[in-house]
Amino acid sequence: MKQRNEVAENLKWKTEHIFADLDEWNALYENVQSRLDFSAYEGKLGEKSCLLECYKKFYAVMYDLEKLYVYAHMRRDENTKDSFFNGLMNKMGSLGVKFSSAVSFMTPELTALDEETLKAYIADPDFKDYDYELKLILKEKPHVLSKETEAVLSLGGQVFGAFRDIFGMIDNADMPFPTVKVNGQKTVVSHGVYGVLLRSPDRKVRKEVFKKYYHAYKSLLNTITATYAGNVNTNVFIAKARKYNSCLEMALAGEDVDISVYKNLLKYAHKALPQLHRYVRQKKQALGLKTMHMYDIYVPTVDDCELELDFEDAFKLVKKGLAPLGEDYTALLQEAHDNGWIDVEETDGKRSGAYSTGVYACKHPYVLLNYQKTTGDVFTIAHELGHAMHTYHSNKYQPQAKADYKIFVAEVASTVNEVLLLKYMLKTSDDQKLRKYLLSYYTDMIKGTLFRQTMFAEFEYVAHEMAANGQPLTDESLSKEYLALNKKYYGKSVVSDEEISYEWARIPHFYNAFYVYKYATGIISAISIAERIYALGAPAVADYKKFLSSGGSDSPVELLKLAGVDLTKKDAYELAMNSFKNALDEYEKIEL
Ligand SMILES: [Zn+2]
Repeated sequence: MKQRNEVAENLKWKTEHIFADLDEWNALYENVQSRLDFSAYEGKLGEKSCLLECYKKFYAVMYDLEKLYVYAHMRRDENTKDSFFNGLMNKMGSLGVKFSSAVSFMTPELTALDEETLKAYIADPDFKDYDYELKLILKEKPHVLSKETEAVLSLGGQVFGAFRDIFGMIDNADMPFPTVKVNGQKTVVSHGVYGVLLRSPDRKVRKEVFKKYYHAYKSLLNTITATYAGNVNTNVFIAKARKYNSCLEMALAGEDVDISVYKNLLKYAHKALPQLHRYVRQKKQALGLKTMHMYDIYVPTVDDCELELDFEDAFKLVKKGLAPLGEDYTALLQEAHDNGWIDVEETDGKRSGAYSTGVYACKHPYVLLNYQKTTGDVFTIAHELGHAMHTYHSNKYQPQAKADYKIFVAEVASTVNEVLLLKYMLKTSDDQKLRKYLLSYYTDMIKGTLFRQTMFAEFEYVAHEMAANGQPLTDESLSKEYLALNKKYYGKSVVSDEEISYEWARIPHFYNAFYVYKYATGIISAISIAERIYALGAPAVADYKKFLSSGGSDSPVELLKLAGVDLTKKDAYELAMNSFKNALDEYEKIEL
């Protein structure tokens, strides 16, 4: 494999934009270490000048910590085998722990302040950079308990988190991974291999893999049920103790998202289920199946259509696709390309995959790629640059304390870019095979990210409701609920095999309750933004840039409204579902 020193300089990111050299890094590291004493402020946050100073010092240290950390991890990712930069990462780990423990008094002390003091801070222009975080503290106040009770709850922290660890052990260490024969070779069906083999064109392989994999889960079902029930009951306990009306309310409060958004998601996804059923029917027809089973649902209906573009051409294509976002946006993309924001090539030891990372102290974010000339990789460029532009705008227009955006909106800008690129390619290509491939890429993405995650979200909702109402969570009751949902979502064109009723037992995300719905609301927001930009042009782009520039300055639901997406109302959902319907229409029209 290629070594890093064999890669052209213009295809590597320029980390010297963060630190000129390691001496600079070391000097700042020493400097930060000497600034970790916050004890002068402890017990005094009720005094305006103390809190203000404390906040300023907190963010000044954060500024440098982030700079140190991001640099170390970027250099480590250039070659994950490099022991020197792995060493720097370890040093950063312990510095981070020291910092968090030095400032751990802040949130509890602020929460304990009386309402009047907090409200006065929020209204005070001197605190305008911190008003949103103070608002969140005020909101949480009714759910914070007496000092003694909080102490007991925090003692329980490790125990409460144990179910996730136990599931991890079951799922990775104790799981009896089955074996199958593929092309005459014995193959162990690990989690990764399962996903690959379920796409196999050989139906016998898919069926065998599907049955054996789920029967392995079935063999552990009593243990997994007890583990999941423990996890759900822990959530019920904490929600009750903290005086939330439900686990859902507690989880969404953490992201400052209103419960109505969750309910809307379920409601409008249900309304669009006839389109998902149609997607399943299309697939069944394309595969020429008399009876379709759950193990047929992941098989591609169009062969991969690789563009085989070298990076420069791929980048030009991305730029053209994103042209609707305006000249200033494409100029920034060009700057990213020309000025060392992007690390393009795969090299020996380089971290796999792709990501974007930002540093408030640096004028621009960075993107790591492992570009391989596949069509999917072209979309990855657009995707990661979406993250980068969100970070760029938020860092540029927000004060440091409000620059970081929440997970709820984290995949919006990246998906907007993918959808825009896809629309451009569909519009400009008359290669019917490529068009059909792109449409199936799009509808598969909506099936997986929008509908499947919503089905997961609904299952979590049902399980927590059952537990809160005192109904026992048994392997039978959970599997029965899951099977009913699977039938409802995928419809009658596919057999909801017995095995699929155990699917809930293999989803690690369920140990982070009410998380997966964000994937669905994220793609819905992104699709409706892209559709809006196509329909309205400049005014919609201007709205979208306000969102890109908004960081984490308010509730993510409010920030999406800047881009014209109101998740508390029906329009965005309908726009996204309609986009799905149109893609299915188009797909049907193309005959190869
Ligand atoms: Zn992403």
